[in-house]
Amino acid sequence: MLPFLRSDLAQFQSYTPHPGGENGAGHSVTIDRLDTNESPYDLPEELKQKLAWTYQQTIETNRYPDGSHTELKALIAEYVNETSGTEARVEAANISLGNGSDELIRSLLIATCLRGEGSVLAADPTFSMYGILAETLGIPVHRVGRSAATFEIDLGAAQGILSQTQAPPVRAVFVVHPNSPTGNALTPAELEWLRTIPETVLVVIDEAYFEFSQTSVVAEAMQRPNWVILRTFSKAFRLAAHRVGYAIGHPTLISTLEKVRLPYNLPSFSQAATQIALIHRSQLLSAIPLILEERTRLIEVFSQEPALQVWPSSANFVFLRLHDRGAEGETLLNQIHQSLKSQGTLIRLVNQGLRITVGTPEENSRTLDRIQKILGKD
Ligand SMILES: *Cc1c(COP(=O)(O)O)cnc(C)c1O
Repeated sequence: MLPFLRSDLAQFQSYTPHPGGENGAGHSVTIDRLDTNESPYDLPEELKQKLAWTYQQTIETNRYPDGSHTELKALIAEYVNETSGTEARVEAANISLGNGSDELIRSLLIATCLRGEGSVLAADPTFSMYGILAETLGIPVHRVGRSAATFEIDLGAAQGILSQTQAPPVRAVFVVHPNSPTGNALTPAELEWLRTIPETVLVVIDEAYFEFSQTSVVAEAMQRPNWVILRTFSKAFRLAAHRVGYAIGHPTLISTLEKVRLPYNLPSFSQAATQIALIHRSQLLSAIPLILEERTRLIEVFSQEPALQVWPSSANFVFLRLHDRGAEGETLLNQIHQSLKSQGTLIRLVNQGLRITVGTPEENSRTLDRIQKILGKD
C-alpha cells in the first residue's frame, strides 16, 4: 500500500462488470449478455444515423459540453409528466442529470452523509452500488434483511436502525422500485413505512426499471421534500453506452446536487444521444411489451422445473433460486452458472440465486434450453 493512500481503501476491490468471466468480446460463439439488465436491442439504425449527423453537423469537439443540460431537462420533464399523471408538475428545477445514476447516488451521498454527518440504510439483497459508493466515501452502511418468501424489507429492523442509530445518524435510506436482483416492487406496507420517515432523512427511490414496471411514485415524491427519485437511460432507453441518469426531487436538493457534481459531467455526444432517444421515445419503448411477454414465458417455464424457485418480476429480469439451499444446492447453482457461461450465456450469480436479464426471444429460448438440459431434462 502506498503510504499516502487512505488506509481503509486497501480492502476494496475495483468493480468488475462480469465477475469471474469474460464479456464475450473476441469470441466466435454468440454471447448472450444477460447479466447486466440492459435492453437486448441496440438503437435503431436510422436513429444512429441521426446521431452521427448531429455529431458531424452540430457538435464542436473543441468546445466543452452544455454544463447546464438545459434542453435535456426540458425534454425529461415532458417525458416524466406524460407518464406520471402527476398533479404537481415536474419542471427543470426538479431535475439533475448524472453520468449514469451511479454518479447521482454518489452526489446524494456527498450531499447528505459526508464529513461524518450521516450513515445510510439499505435492505439486502439490493443494488450493490449504494453500499460500494458509500463505503468508498467512508460512510457507514446499515443493512437489514428481507422476507425469504417475498423479499419484502424487514420493516421492524429498518425502523429500529432508523430510530436508534446515532453518531452518525441515518441520513439516507435507499430503496429500489422494483428491486434488483429480486424484481419486486415496493408494497403498500413498505410505502407506508417510507412515509413515516422523518424529514431529517432523505428517502432515495431508485426507479431504474420504471419503464418495465410502469409503476412510479414520482407524483408523491413531488409532495415530499425528503423523497428523491432516480431514473436511468441505461435500461429501457437502450443507452447504457452513454451513461445518463437523472434525479427528480425538491428544487433545493436538486440545486445541491448541481453544486457537488463535476461541471461537465455529461459529454456532448451523450447529451445528443439522450435527446434523440427522448424525441423518439415511443419507438424505443415499443419494444417493452415483447420484453414483458418474454419475461412471462421465462417465469412460466422456470416454474415448471421442480428444482427451481422463481419469483414474479416487475422488471426486465427474473430471479431464481434452487429449493435446495444446502451445500449440494450451492454446488448445482455454481454448475448452472459455469455451464451457461461456457456455452455463451452470461447471467449473474448473486445472493444465492441467479438473476437473468430478459433478452431477445432467441436468447431466452437458448437460456431455457440450456438450463433445462443442465437440470437433466431435454
Ligand atoms: C442498472 C441500475 C441503475 C443504472 O445505473 P446507471 O449508472 O444509470 O447505468 C441504477 N440503479 C439500479 C437499481 C440499477 O439496476
